[in-house]
Amino acid sequence: MRVVPKDKVSFSCNQKNGANYQVDDGEVFWVETDDCYSGQIQDEKTRRPDIDISIMDCAVGPIAVKGAMPGDTLCVEILAIDLVDHGVMVTSKGLGVLGDRITEPDTKIIPIHDGFAWFSDTIRLPLTPMVGVCGIAPKAGLDIHCAVPGTHGSNMDTKMVKVGSRLYLPVEKEGADLAVGDIHACMGDGELSGTGIETAGRICLRTTVYKDRPVHGPVIETKNDLYFLGTAVTLKEAIKIAVAETVEFIEKKRSLNFQDAYRFLRATCDIQISQVVNDLVTVRCHLPKFDTGIETL
Ligand code: CA
Ligand code: CA
Repeated sequence: MRVVPKDKVSFSCNQKNGANYQVDDGEVFWVETDDCYSGQIQDEKTRRPDIDISIMDCAVGPIAVKGAMPGDTLCVEILAIDLVDHGVMVTSKGLGVLGDRITEPDTKIIPIHDGFAWFSDTIRLPLTPMVGVCGIAPKAGLDIHCAVPGTHGSNMDTKMVKVGSRLYLPVEKEGADLAVGDIHACMGDGELSGTGIETAGRICLRTTVYKDRPVHGPVIETKNDLYFLGTAVTLKEAIKIAVAETVEFIEKKRSLNFQDAYRFLRATCDIQISQVVNDLVTVRCHLPKFDTGIETL
């Protein structure tokens, strides 16, 4: 099986970068990644202000997917996530929701083994591995840092991008130019302190091109659920984007007019917060598939 090594990375998503790697439509392959600090923090003496932030938040790629054309939908299926034996959690002034209460930055190295992240000698957390950054080239003319989420995916920090999930993204460029990174061993909704348990590792993916599943922005499918993502400056705007996408999907899928799709939404869907710590915030509108008679995207 092909292994995409971590030595070629993107710092921003655009149509100019050009692909460093190429895979086939339907191919299963591994992508190796550093953590979001590009491996600069390996001990508790190294604090966030000590590292070069210009090489943070990159993503391995771009990886062109053969056959992907503008107007298609790229499905990125997460088949497995292997973690290294430790993760990193920093605090730093201004980082996360309560960052104003941090006066001295510090670093914790979290051992990972036996299915747990060992937060301390007495506190162990079950692993919930997920992929923070998974994005493709945005519309022509845009140049978006990998730390910023959008309709092209990227740093959505959505815990549903996990093993067994399929992430659908709207293709804007031939090959799509996929880039992935920022694995977390554990992360809760919101990424409230500004980081999950940041780890290096490798991700097993399957990339499939669909001609008949159009999306305007990221949609995640799990066994039982669909999630329509919205990213914007404020939560209110992000919610509006996610809800509008969901209602449009319900209209088409259940052959309802807008008013009835809007009623259907109110009876079945939840709004959930993905992250509130990046420059733009991300929410997801959750639509249960089986309770609503919807089988897939
Ligand atoms: Ca992230
Ligand atoms: Ca992260």
